[in-house]
Amino acid sequence: MGGEFKDECGVFGLSLKDRSDYMVRHMFLGLFSLQHRGQESCGISYETDDGIEVVKSRGLVSGDFLENLPKNVSSKIAVGHVRYATCGASNLINAQPLIFKSNKGDVAIAHNGNLPNSERLKRDLLLKGAIFQTTSDSEILIHLMSMLPGSDFETSLIDSLKTLEGAYAMLVMSNDKLIAFRDPQGFRPLSYGFINEGVVFSSETAALTIIGAHDITTVKPGELIVCSNGAIIKKIDLSGGQKPAQCVFELIYFARPDSVVFDEAVYQFRLRVGRKLAQNRHKDTDLVIPVPDSGNVSALGFSRESGIPFDLSLMRNHYTGRTFIKPGQQLREDSVKMKLNPVATEIRGKTLSIIDDSLVRGTTSKKIVKMLREAGAKEVHVYLASPEIIGSCYYGINTPTTDELISAQNKPVEIAKIIGADSVTFLSVADLKECLTDSNAFCYACFNREYPTTIDELSCKGCF
Ligand code: AMP
Repeated sequence: MGGEFKDECGVFGLSLKDRSDYMVRHMFLGLFSLQHRGQESCGISYETDDGIEVVKSRGLVSGDFLENLPKNVSSKIAVGHVRYATCGASNLINAQPLIFKSNKGDVAIAHNGNLPNSERLKRDLLLKGAIFQTTSDSEILIHLMSMLPGSDFETSLIDSLKTLEGAYAMLVMSNDKLIAFRDPQGFRPLSYGFINEGVVFSSETAALTIIGAHDITTVKPGELIVCSNGAIIKKIDLSGGQKPAQCVFELIYFARPDSVVFDEAVYQFRLRVGRKLAQNRHKDTDLVIPVPDSGNVSALGFSRESGIPFDLSLMRNHYTGRTFIKPGQQLREDSVKMKLNPVATEIRGKTLSIIDDSLVRGTTSKKIVKMLREAGAKEVHVYLASPEIIGSCYYGINTPTTDELISAQNKPVEIAKIIGADSVTFLSVADLKECLTDSNAFCYACFNREYPTTIDELSCKGCF
């Protein structure tokens, strides 16, 4: 039940002035640009004369989903989702958007985030007679809405949100409205912009720029935006003055470097982090090499700061997915080899500074160091563009249990031994904060275990 699934996801949605067959094109391009946020399933829901329709498929946006997309449909409102379920089976029933026929009309939701207290809410709802169709946290919102008196979709949604705690960047649609909002602490990102035909929302701005959106803005933590007929008709502040706790790991790893999330340009942030790492470098090596793609920009910053030549002799095969985004340890281990290969001619006899974004279990780095040594590297110094991950995430990033986190169990010198490197250097939390424009607005729980919400262990069983 609740908490069984902890999702990394992306959401995308639009409200258009008129029904248009542009809907399908925009939704496809938007979700395609968010593919890195989830590769197990994807879907869209859209309004029609007969209520809300949905198309969901397993796998990539360019796979079955593209085949299954409606060909000649014109629609005014749509929401879409890409999903990676990190716990439990990834069955299609949990794929989003979730759609419901309720006493508030047809409703579809697309959710990015995780509700750490979902189990308690679910138990209460079950006692009141709710019948859950999925094991996804996101369904809770619909039950909360349907149990409120009255038939108004918007009012019941706003009232239900008062009960939720945790991370939710969500798009919810009825037959005539699109409502977009972020939880009061703003854990997960959400932005919007305008196209000729209306308003578009996305987890990341890269998906907005690709469809030519302009005047792109961040949905603020706790902000709720109501759209109808391609225009914003209302903005409400539901933050209640809570301190923002935006996920710093979005900037470190998850978001695309060509996105702006939380008003921070990801590329520039990563360049700054690379420079900080270089200022604390262990020694001047012959080359700086990123672990592609997540280490690319920080390695460039490292090289610019240190003057050490930037090199690309760790090659990535782009036909495999993200290493981590493959459930199960064996698959994870194999996929490192499938994904990365060193260029021996460039690294033989050389000392190397290798830059990756983060160390989670240590699987990737161990394999990489071994490959580099086999290819003749003389010394391998590993730099991580994030602090040591010592706590699981309860807000939508896939991190394993504490006992699986290499940094929760070992100091950097021990980690160097475990992964076979000459040295391992992490970014300090203080340096990370210096790289952020507003460091007070972020959650650092994975680095300091200071969780900004209460955590209900019941809801999180099996995941953490
Ligand atoms: P590990 O091999 O377990 O140490 O994982 C570290 C690698 O996984 C790094 O190269 C990261 O780029 C990547 N990574 C870190 N966090 C995540 C995440 N939440 N989801 C997917 N990949 C991740």
